[in-house]
Amino acid sequence: MDLFNDLYQQLIIDHNKNPRNYHPLANCTHRANGHNPLCGDEISIEFIEEEGIIKQIAFQGSGCAISIASSSLMTTSLEKKKIENAITIYEAFINLAKTGKTNRELGKLSVLAGVYKYPSRVKCATLAWHTFYGAVKQTIEKIKTE
Ligand code: ZN
Repeated sequence: MDLFNDLYQQLIIDHNKNPRNYHPLANCTHRANGHNPLCGDEISIEFIEEEGIIKQIAFQGSGCAISIASSSLMTTSLEKKKIENAITIYEAFINLAKTGKTNRELGKLSVLAGVYKYPSRVKCATLAWHTFYGAVKQTIEKIKTE
């Protein structure tokens, strides 16, 4: 069985070739780096939180097609979401990657549902999400200059 036939090939390939929100984010309020040593994927996530809402989110890094596509899809789905809603989606996505069970909240993220059949790739798909969750906890202190 081919991994890419199981995943919705075109959307994954598109997000890998043309990742969305792939850039540094000046003035980010949260940042974290993630590393998946099994595959060599390295992803950093940055976002700007304003009044409990993810105003802007971006990522950078290098890795396999699954890790990059998952990061790209994640940024498009979390932008403009409340932090608490984003955490709900994070939990649903981790469950999706491990069990293949989808729900309405996941929307187009469901294209990664097939990954659960490939245990070695689950960490590729969830890296960006675990990193995002780490970033939620890592507030960047604003440096005040007076
Ligand atoms: Zn990978």
